Amino acid sequence: MNTSKTLLSLYLVFAVILSQFFVAYFFSKGRTSYRKAFSALVLCISFYLFGYLMIINSNNLQEMVFWNQIQYLGLPFISVLWLMVALLYTKTIYSLKNQIAILLFSLPVITFFVRLTNSWHHFFYTKWEMRQFFGYYSLYMERGFWYYVNISYSILCLLLTIIIYFIGYLKNKVGYTKSHFLVFLFASLLPFIGIVLILFAFEEWSIDYSALIMPISLLIISYGILKYDFLEIRTLARETIFENNFAGMVVLGPGKRVIDYNKAAEKFFEAINIKLNNYPIEHILNREPKLLEIFESESSRDFSLVIDGEERFFEIDVVPLGEPHDGNTRMLKSIRDVTDERKIQDKLKFLATIDSLSGLYNRAEFMNLAKREFAWAKTSNEELSLLIMDLDNFKNINDSFGHAAGDEMIREIGSIIMTSFRKTDIAGRIGGEEFAVVLKNASLEEAKKVAEKFRETVARRKVIYEGQEISSTVSIGVAAIRGNTDDINNIEDILKMADDALYKAKAKGRNCVAT
Ligand code: GH3
Ligand code: MG
Ligand code: MG
Repeated sequence: MNTSKTLLSLYLVFAVILSQFFVAYFFSKGRTSYRKAFSALVLCISFYLFGYLMIINSNNLQEMVFWNQIQYLGLPFISVLWLMVALLYTKTIYSLKNQIAILLFSLPVITFFVRLTNSWHHFFYTKWEMRQFFGYYSLYMERGFWYYVNISYSILCLLLTIIIYFIGYLKNKVGYTKSHFLVFLFASLLPFIGIVLILFAFEEWSIDYSALIMPISLLIISYGILKYDFLEIRTLARETIFENNFAGMVVLGPGKRVIDYNKAAEKFFEAINIKLNNYPIEHILNREPKLLEIFESESSRDFSLVIDGEERFFEIDVVPLGEPHDGNTRMLKSIRDVTDERKIQDKLKFLATIDSLSGLYNRAEFMNLAKREFAWAKTSNEELSLLIMDLDNFKNINDSFGHAAGDEMIREIGSIIMTSFRKTDIAGRIGGEEFAVVLKNASLEEAKKVAEKFRETVARRKVIYEGQEISSTVSIGVAAIRGNTDDINNIEDILKMADDALYKAKAKGRNCVAT
């Protein structure tokens, strides 16, 4: 038994077993596209190494040629897969699109078939023979034209791989990512050296340097992937959060080109029949000028949209990504559906400001608004009137017909008030059966007329409650300011005046207006 052959065989057996293990391991853990590409790469390498193991252990030419053919099941694809892992790993590309795959893999596929049919045309190997070196047989081939095409392509792919890792290494500022790229760069240099050796030194001893080097390179790369595995999880976590976020997200790169987007963003744009793709945003949104303006702006904006017959509200926020580059801001646009929040806010505001029985403003809100109106009338020297009305003998209604009947009456008065005054007037229920209205731009005389009309309306109105007719009357106190000429200086003063007038009206026998 020849020692160098035994050692080489053991080395290759070990490498094949190891690579098979890696194929299984990385395939089972292959959550990302780069991991799948990596396990395909290792599979191809294991074919190649296994073929070589069998060649050096064969002792006739026929067998050797057969195992060489087996090697070519994997060999043509190794360097292009190496390149693909680099492209995906460094995020030079995000996913493998069909066109890119066809472009990259067409030459290796052709190589496979040229090698398979070599005996017909001898494009790949012009001749082969068995030679003996170091006491064991090797396959010696004379190379044909397509062999050089294939090996040039392999060298090109590996060269690109090395460049990609090198750029990744230079560009990356984070320490551990940087050293990771260095590991990959180093691991890719080895097969490159192997191929160059085959090209220029194979003739000498007919040794496949690549087969010797490849297992070492594989070990280095696997070490790198396993050691820095947490990077993978971190990236995966970030990608998952991005992809599945409730907020739509669109990443705009230089020239406001759409670089990336998630599912929610896709759905948002589907609602307006727009398909997102890798074009500048002005191209994508050329039919939606309003939305385009929002997307080009560098501040947060609101946008509303009718989806399935329902108006929905969106908050479109912006997060700058890094420093501006050549006057270009790269940014992340997030689109958040705030419809439900808005609805709750509106409802809370309604509950906090509106009296549920009469539908008018409650006391607190009425005071707020009245104060604001009073201040405005003072500064702009405008007239302003205030009416306070109290139902007459309301206790009697409660006593004779019940509390619910009283409530019904309050409800009715609320709706009469809503229809009897101008939209700009402010009306509120300020006590149990006491109401107040601020009349803008109205003199005392005008207010008195309006109050009189209202009093009559109430007196005529009958409320039917459980088959019984109930009617009621109101007493109204009116007060007014004449701009900034008089010395009424706050809302409490005018309220007091109207209250006093109301007291007068009650004293006069009710169902009347007093000033
Ligand atoms: P006056 O003509 O002097 O105003 O006589 P009044 O009976 O209306 O007397 P007052 O204004 O002092 O009493 C108001 C009554 O209204 C007292 C209370 O029982 C009743 N009341 C207050 N709030 C409500 C309410 O929300 N629903 C009902 N049904 N009754 C109310
Ligand atoms: Mg009363
Ligand atoms: Mg009262």
